[in-house]
Order: sequence, then C-alpha cells, then structure tokens
Amino acid sequence: MTHRSEPVAMEPGFTWDQAVAEAGRCLLCHDAPCSKGCPAGTDPGRFIRQFRLRNVTGAVRTIKENNILGGACGVLCPTARLCEKECSACGIDRPIRIGKLQRFLVEHARTTGFHPFDNPRWEKPAPRQEHVAVVGAGPAGLSCAAELAKAGFPVTVFEERAEPGGVLRYGVPSFRFSSEFLAQEIADLKALGVKFECSKPLRDRGAIESLMKDRYQAVFLGIGLWEPVRLTDERDSGEDVYPSIRFLEAFRQGKAKDLGRHCKGKVVAVVGGGSVAIDCARVAKKLGAADVYLVYRRAFEQMPAEADERAEALAEGIHFLLLNQPQGYVRDGHGNLTGVQLVRTRLGAEDASGRRKPVEIPGSDWVLEAQTVVEAIGNQAPAESPDWYPRVKVSGMNLVVADAETGRTSFAGVFAGGDIVRGPATVVEAIADGKAAAKAITEYLTK
Ligand SMILES: Cc1cc2nc3c(=O)[nH]c(=O)nc-3n(C[C@H](O)[C@H](O)[C@H](O)COP(=O)(O)OP(=O)(O)OC[C@H]3O[C@@H](n4cnc5c(N)ncnc54)[C@H](O)[C@@H]3O)c2cc1C
Ligand code: SF4
Repeated sequence: MTHRSEPVAMEPGFTWDQAVAEAGRCLLCHDAPCSKGCPAGTDPGRFIRQFRLRNVTGAVRTIKENNILGGACGVLCPTARLCEKECSACGIDRPIRIGKLQRFLVEHARTTGFHPFDNPRWEKPAPRQEHVAVVGAGPAGLSCAAELAKAGFPVTVFEERAEPGGVLRYGVPSFRFSSEFLAQEIADLKALGVKFECSKPLRDRGAIESLMKDRYQAVFLGIGLWEPVRLTDERDSGEDVYPSIRFLEAFRQGKAKDLGRHCKGKVVAVVGGGSVAIDCARVAKKLGAADVYLVYRRAFEQMPAEADERAEALAEGIHFLLLNQPQGYVRDGHGNLTGVQLVRTRLGAEDASGRRKPVEIPGSDWVLEAQTVVEAIGNQAPAESPDWYPRVKVSGMNLVVADAETGRTSFAGVFAGGDIVRGPATVVEAIADGKAAAKAITEYLTK
C-alpha cells in the first residue's frame, strides 16, 4: 500500500520512559473497572499488568487479540468517558492514560518487529468452508472480518474507496491518525488472511443481498454514513462552502494545496460543535487560515466535542463563536462568498435531548465576514442506500435496523453494525459491533 506524503505529521505518543512511568501509577486493581469501561473488551487491566511485569509481547497480544484496531483506539478513543472514566486512580488524582499506553505498546511492537498474527506463537485456526463477505472497510467491517478470520472463515472485504480504513483513512486528519499507522493495523488483518477488494462499490439495486446468491453464506454490512447533512439547499455553491466530510477527505487525499487556496490568509467559518467541526477547524488553521471561527448555536458546555478537543482548539487560536445560528450565505456580485448570515440565540427550555434549546433572538441578525465555510453538522445514509439491500429493514433516517446484541437484520444471513446502525458514534463502538456480529455469524453458520 503506498501513500502520498501526508501534509502534517501525526502527533507523537509516549516514549518508553513515559510509558513505564504511567504504567507504574496503575493500582493493579483485582477486578479492573477500566476493563469493564471498554465497549470492545480490549482489557486494559490485563495489558497494563502484563506491561508492568515487562511482558511486552503478552501485553500487545492482549490488545490485538481483543481488538484488531487496538492501536487506532489507543489514539482515537474518547477515553475520558470510557475506560479512563472508570479508572480507580480517578479517586486519588488523575486516571492512568490508558489510551496512550495502548498506543505506545502497539507502536513499540512494530518498531521492535513483533507482529502478533505473523508469529509462531499465533495458532492458526482450522479452516472452515463457509465464505463471508464484509461490505465496508471501516472499523466495524475490519473488526468483524478479523474475528471471522480468527475463527477460520475465508473473509473478503468489499470497499468502495481505493484503500481500507473508512473514516480512519478518509476522515480523521492525518495529524491525529496517519495512513502509515493505519497501514500497520491493516497488515495485521492481512496476516490473519483477510482479503480486500477495494474500489468495489456495491451500489446497484440488491447488490449487497446478491452476495448471498454468489459464494457468500453470510454478509456483514458496515458502510458507515457518508452523505453530508447540508445547512441550506445551496448545494452547488462551489468550492468555498464545503461539507466537512469532503473537506477532510480532500485533506487526507493529499489535496492540501487545493484546500490551502481556500484557507491560506482567509477567514474560515466552521459550522458545528462536534468533534468533526473541531477537526475541520484545526485543518483550516494548519492550512494557514488567518482566522478560524467555530460557529455553534448553543453554549460551550453543550458542545458535543470532547473537553480535550475543545481545549486543544482553543490553544491553537480557534475562535469559538457560540450562541449563533447560521441562516445562509452572503455573496458578492461575482458569486464569491463574503460572509455567513447569523442570528444570535439564547438558551431556552430543555429539548428532547436534555440540552437547553437555542432560541433565536429577533432582530439580532448580523454577518460574519468569511471567504470559506465548512459545514460540519452531521452525516447521514445516502437516500438511495436502502435500495442496495431492499430486504433489510431500515428506519426513517435510512439507518439499518439490527439487533443490538448480535447485529442480525431482518434478512437472514445479513448482519450489520457501526454507524449505519447506530448513527454517528465512535470507533470503539463500531469495533464492538463488528466483534458481536462475528460471534453471531459464527453461530449462524455453524448451528
Ligand atoms: C472526521 C471524523 C472524525 C472522527 N473522529 C473520531 C475520533 O477521534 N474517535 C472516535 O472514536 N470516533 C471518531 N469518529 C467517528 C468514527 O470514525 C466512526 O464512528 C467510525 O468510523 C464508524 O465506523 P464504521 O465502520 O461504521 O464506518 P466508516 O468508518 O464510515 O466506514 C464505512 C466504509 O464503508 C465504505 N462504503 C460505504 N458504502 C459502501 C458501498 N456501497 N460499497 C462498498 N463500500 C462502501 C466506505 O467507503 C467506508 O470505507 C470520527 C468521525 C469523523 C467523520
Ligand atoms: S479500546 Fe479505547 S475504550 Fe477500550 S481500553 Fe482501549 S482506549 Fe479504552
């Protein structure tokens, strides 16, 4: 797998000394609560204990055998509300930096040449005959594929983009998670025998169910959410109003120069208050924007972005323009974007989500001068996606309806998980879904 050089290098992880010191803080709880806080069952209580005993390869095996994307999770998991939230050291001072230790161990294994599945200590499973197709090479599909391969099934992953990884490859900015790091995670899947068919979109009517008529006895659907929600109907507004996923995808595909034209020295407004909005704002800043405004209609404490992400953005000089609701765009006589039409809001009563609702203040309209806008207000399933699997039940939002424990859908043999079932969620939840579905597929094929 080759990669164009990434525009901004990935932020470094722990050194050996830092990792040893951090693991040294662990209280080695008997019934480690951190392990219960991990949706994917990565078992930090066990791998930290192994590392403390300097059983480094054992620690790496614990991580990777439980979670094929353990390195990615170490970098990307919102640990403050998962494993680290449960850490017993919270009651003393601060939690053990579990994510950072996890990342360190996976990276350390690679630099020392230890590959958990390309290793005489890895016992290959007895091969099985039933073929399984996985559609979508994001975290859900990759984790399902790895688990099935570990159970001995021949697995093929179909992916519409040129390389596997889903959001990890085409969304998260490279300074947070690089393609090189991802390639090493994918190498572990290949060592398990998983086959990849990239640049293979399955978008014809019934294309996904038809796999069952082909050589596959079961299918896992993990196609994520790639259709941007737009602020206005101004869809063909040119290159100065980007949906977040296209903006980030262009950055990851080495098109920083083109994006730079729209960011360098310009005022960039990013609409949204979640993690994706923060990623876009940081990318715009790194591409040389004069000023980056994060425009959000509620207050600071209601932003869905994680606390550490917000702090990072503030430290990088991104302006938080809170309690402002975008209404539309302002253009000059040549059609160039000159500003965002905003109206100020105040917080009203709580809405169904339990958060106080933004209420527009009449007569408070104003225009924020901006030459580029990135809309980061969510992604959804494409309107036509139910057509790809007409016998699978979908909800009103075109999300796939699947059993939460097993990923079973309404069509026997088709299982699903990750964002296409949950709506926008996290990497580790997608991995948990992929694992659970692999278990259910194994039962389905061997019953
Ligand atoms: C910019 C951004 C940053 C994020 N940052 C974080 C973070 O820091 N931490 C965190 O935990 N979560 C983060 N998330 C959320 C996380 O990335 C997702 O929850 C996760 O990737 C979902 O995994 P998935 O496998 O369901 O789908 P995806 O990662 O979306 O993968 C789906 C794959 O299916 C492919 N596909 C789609 N349709 C078809 C088709 N018809 N045929 C073949 N292939 C198809 C797509 O090309 C894609 O590769 C972020 C999300 C975004 C958008
Ligand atoms: S996978 Fe994520 S949530 Fe689970 S232990 Fe590791 S860092 Fe924590």
